[in-house]
Formats: sequence, C-alpha cells, structure tokens
Amino acid sequence: MTTDTALPTQLVHHPYRAPAEFDAVPVGVFKASTVLFPNVAAVRQRRWQDKSAYTYGLHGTPTTFTLEERIATLEGGHHCVLAPSGLAAVALVDMAFLRAGDEVLIPHNAYGPNLAFAAVELAHWGIRHRTYDPMRPDDLAMQLTPQTRLVWLEAAGSITLEFPDVPALVAQVQAHNARCASTEAQLRPTVTVLDNTWGAGVAFCGFDLGADVVMQALTKYPSGGADVLMGSVVTRDERLHHALLMTHMRLGLGVSGNDAELVLRGLPSLQLRYRAQDASTRQLAQWMQQQPGVARVLHPALPGTPGHATWRRDAQGAACLFTVVFDDAIPAERIDAFCDNLRLFRLGYSWAGPMSLCMPYDRADMRGRDWPHAHGPVRFAVGLEAVTDLQADLKQALAVLSAA
Ligand SMILES: *Cc1c(COP(=O)(O)O)cnc(C)c1O
Repeated sequence: MTTDTALPTQLVHHPYRAPAEFDAVPVGVFKASTVLFPNVAAVRQRRWQDKSAYTYGLHGTPTTFTLEERIATLEGGHHCVLAPSGLAAVALVDMAFLRAGDEVLIPHNAYGPNLAFAAVELAHWGIRHRTYDPMRPDDLAMQLTPQTRLVWLEAAGSITLEFPDVPALVAQVQAHNARCASTEAQLRPTVTVLDNTWGAGVAFCGFDLGADVVMQALTKYPSGGADVLMGSVVTRDERLHHALLMTHMRLGLGVSGNDAELVLRGLPSLQLRYRAQDASTRQLAQWMQQQPGVARVLHPALPGTPGHATWRRDAQGAACLFTVVFDDAIPAERIDAFCDNLRLFRLGYSWAGPMSLCMPYDRADMRGRDWPHAHGPVRFAVGLEAVTDLQADLKQALAVLSAA
C-alpha cells in the first residue's frame, strides 16, 4: 500500500486511483473473476440477482449488465441472461424448464443443433422430444401432451425459411394450458420459446407474437462482425427469468468482457445493417429466380415461399438469407462446382457478418421435412458487399451449371 512494502506488493496494491468521472461513447470493458468487497457487511449484503451490486465475475460486471439491459430492450423484454454461444442459450432454456419425464416440442425445420441437443443430451436425462410441422398449428395441437413443458418456435425456419403463424401456434399452447389448468400440470404450464436469431429484434417483436421467452444467437446480427460467439435469453415474466437466472448460475455460464464489448460495439448499427442486407438479399433472391437451372428460390418475401402471407402480416423486414433449389436434372457435381466457383460468396457457416457466404446442404439434412427435390438446397447469406458485385459473382458461377 505504502512505500514500506516491497515492489511486487506495490505493483498489486498500488495506491493510485484514476478519477471516476471518465465518460466516453463506448461502455468500459470490465474484466474480473474476483470482485472486491470493502468490508464483511458488503459481502453479506450485496445482491447480484437484481443487478444492484457485484459479487463475482460469473455474476456480472458493468459491461455484461449493460449488454443484458440493451439486449432486453432490443427484444422488447425486461430481463436478459447471456450465454457463451447461441447454442448454449438453447441448452440453457431446455435445462431451466425441463425435468426427467417431460417432453419438448421442436419444429421439424428448427436450427439443427437445437434438435440434436434434444435428441441426444436431453434423452440422456429422460426428457423426450417430438417434432411438429410449424406450418400446421393443428399438428402442434395434436403433439401436445400433459408431459409437454416447452415448445420451441422459429421464424423463419432454418435453411428452408418457411414463415410460421407464431400467434396461431402460441394460441394452441395457451388453449392446452387452459385445458390442463385443473391438473398437476397447472404448477408448471407449458412455456413457449422463440429462437429469434433471424428476426434479430428488428423484423418483429417475439413477445408481441406471443412467445414467453425469446432467445437469440448474438453471434449473428447483434455482433455483425463474424468474430464473436454469444447467445441471449430474454423474458418479460419475473418468474421465468428467475428460473433461467438460477440455472444459468448453477451451470457456470459466463461471457468475457472483451466479447461483450464486441457485441456492444455492433448494436448501434444493427438496424442499418439489417435493412441494408435485407434489401440486397431480396434483390439477389428475385434475380436468382429467373436464372436457368434454378427450380425454386426460398425467401419469405417471395410469394412462392410457404408462409409468405404470414410474413407480410407479422414482419417488417427479412434477414440476409435466401435458399436455392436447383433443377432435379442437373448433376449433383455441377451444383458443387457452382459453389466452388463463387469468389465473393465464401463457403462457411453462420451469417449476418460482413462477408457473403454459401452453404450446400445434403438431401439427408432435409430429413423430417417435406422435401420433394432430388438435390439438397444451397443457402446464401448476403453480406455487406456491393450487390452488383454479388450478382456478377453468382452469374459467373452459374455458367458451370450449363457447361458442356
Ligand atoms: C447460429 C444460430 C444458432 C446458434 O448460435 P451459435 O452462436 O452459433 O451457437 C441458433 N439458432 C439459430 C437460428 C442460428 O442461426
């Protein structure tokens, strides 16, 4: 503390304190495992659960508390917890609301790893999953049982981009809860959770569509940089938030201050990026529809895509994804060659970053969906490049489809 201690001690316990009035546009990046308490009374009194104080790095820092509040606002909710990836956020929701003997319902076109987590990990814990057709609320109604405790929703569907009637699906769950109100199930009503990665809090508000819990892969739009992995789970309901917060704590899920900083840096430009990528994507999807060899283009703004009318009713915008189905007559190798010939669209997973991406899926990946085509689809994620350059890239690569 003072000069009567040795240098190694002074370098840890230094007396200088920077003035507290520093103020700038970005939020400070705070990093800690240990958080210091001024006295024993503070150790006993401090509460991290309501963000009124700090106790330990895993329980939050000024940086992560600030990001949680901004993501809650983005989603139109009141409470947020952060997870180290979108998939970790999916798993957190499952573990917070499901017990041995319960069932979870997942749309058959859901994000693949969500289904895989249920099929393998949840099965190990004695939790069953079933899939339902998200375009048929009557099918969801048929799959609901007294054991169903959680229903996943996703709009638009992963890869195939059908846009479901979320309010109609939620209405089935609410009717089910009302029917079970006199039974033991009343104590734990079925919760609905929307994976809102596609809408990103921009195209629609998940809570306004009726979801109880809204999850998002912040890896995609909120980061926007293709350089960070993170997920969020937002609620309006205090009781649901408490369940999530306690499971989150017991699992030891945390995010680093540096990663939180990257997402905080992406948030102010989120809407601008979403709108710009939306405009480029619609232009390319429409153009692609007219190209020889293309059987179908899937994008909710195109009238031929299932759920187009619902998308028009419920959404004010669309994400940067469109999916192409090639003619059955085209040899599979030509489709691979087309993907390999693209120069600006690079092969890679994820989306909503600066670089345009392309990913071919196998027919086997479409298992469980209605898929009448010979080939698996190719999904495109449009980045921030000039749309004229992207169109020229698609055009030059399409030439291999008709090559002799
Ligand atoms: C990417 C994605 C996830 C998972 O996010 P990660 O951060 O990559 O784990 C979940 N749901 C959807 C719809 C996604 O696109």
